[in-house]
Amino acid sequence: MWPAASFVHADRNCLIFAGKGKDCRAPRFDVNSMSLEKLASRYEKLTVRLSEQYYNQEAGLPYDKDLMKELSEQLTGVSLEFLNNFKEPRSMYLASIETIANAERLETELELKEQRMERISTERYAIDGKRVNWGSWRQFNAQTDDSAKRKEVFDEFIEKAPRINPLVRKRMAISRDVYSRYKLTPLDSYLEFEGLGFDELRRLLMKLGDNAKETFLTAADHYAPEVLGKKKTEYYDDYYTWRGRIYNPLNKYFEGKKALDEIQRFLGSFGFETAKIQVDAEDREKKSPSAFCFGIQIPNDVRICYRRVSPFSDFGSLFHEFGHGIHDASANPKDSVWKRYIIPMSVAETFSILVETMLHTPKFLKEDLRISGKAINDIMDRERFMNLAFLTFYAANSIMKIEFWKKTYSLEEATERWQELTKRFFIEVPGNYWLLHHIMPDYDVYSPSYVIASMRVSAIRAQLERDFGESWWRSGKAGEFIKGLARTRGEFDVKAWKLDPDLYLEEQSSLSFLQ
Ligand SMILES: [Zn+2]
Repeated sequence: MWPAASFVHADRNCLIFAGKGKDCRAPRFDVNSMSLEKLASRYEKLTVRLSEQYYNQEAGLPYDKDLMKELSEQLTGVSLEFLNNFKEPRSMYLASIETIANAERLETELELKEQRMERISTERYAIDGKRVNWGSWRQFNAQTDDSAKRKEVFDEFIEKAPRINPLVRKRMAISRDVYSRYKLTPLDSYLEFEGLGFDELRRLLMKLGDNAKETFLTAADHYAPEVLGKKKTEYYDDYYTWRGRIYNPLNKYFEGKKALDEIQRFLGSFGFETAKIQVDAEDREKKSPSAFCFGIQIPNDVRICYRRVSPFSDFGSLFHEFGHGIHDASANPKDSVWKRYIIPMSVAETFSILVETMLHTPKFLKEDLRISGKAINDIMDRERFMNLAFLTFYAANSIMKIEFWKKTYSLEEATERWQELTKRFFIEVPGNYWLLHHIMPDYDVYSPSYVIASMRVSAIRAQLERDFGESWWRSGKAGEFIKGLARTRGEFDVKAWKLDPDLYLEEQSSLSFLQ
């Protein structure tokens, strides 16, 4: 589900980087004589097998940890071999460094995941008989109407956050160390993939955060009584609290509609073959609560996995994940491994967000999903409000994170800086909060990718409307155009669409109750 839940599970674009192993041993096969193609094909075979294990883990199916470890070690070997012998293709070079960093961080990251669940928890509240912890925090906020209780847990978790500092510090230090062996930082690699300069990205994010602030705060006052049960939004009403509560009234409009049928019908009429994308909707105890898509073997083995949650969120999840699905399934099987698999994060999210924005397209809601006019207003307002909330929050997250690498912040400096940025963009939040986020401490950068993708989608949609008319999704040619874009995979031109913060802000700021 956009914008954040879907990459907890390592949204499939991370999988090429999923080579995880205990240490960087020498490879067990003689690769010196191996050609680039052979090396890449070995990389693909290992990645496919490892992805399947990760998929099973997320899907709540049996998986083999020893096999995962073994495959990760071999993948690290292949990456080292590539780095020792080749400089090109550049994307493969950068992905190989990331694969090694993943492997070296593995122990620390597993410990971080465990300790976070264990040590960020409270004795005061329970869900289904289990104490509320980091993992059930969002569920608690969604279910708890008494804001004083939500505040209590928030304050307690913020106070406990420094307990995981040493592991976060260590995780970041390993990344810095691995990249420095190749005279790079994780930020250099990220910016190179995204085709952006540091100053350019920072300026863009500043503008979005600054300009979204006022409308967000005004609209938050409008929704606070209904959604938060109080007059004003405060520091502990985080983005996820809003997201977990604000969509409830929309379910009634989608009751009785089948999300899976609707997305398959829509994409089918748009010219995409959805039959080859496997869908697993079964309920299993250990299945991830958020939907996900894995391109296991691209383009032939693409799988979407989800659990039914509520009518509206099922639509959101499936539209988003099917965007990833058609992106993966549209690849040309004859293309190189790196072209098919190594994709800038914002490019992967471009396709998922593009398909998901159909649900925020009034004409599509009305004519294709047969939703009434009044309901459409309500859907649009809540969706845009959440986009504004997202912008203010992610502007702070993203700016702190890129400065972290650029200015070599200590953890304390990062915390102080993040607090300062929240004050600038929305409401001052205790700086330790960033340590409790599910992406900020777990990834090197990642945060700006959704922001970049959202702006790119606005520009692509403007072009689609211009070239194919207001109902562009009924044009076969528009379908061909998107399929062509999807097929470019790792050669997607990240500079083809100008990222225009003003256009994006204007769209998201037009809320019916503020007119
Ligand atoms: Zn996604």
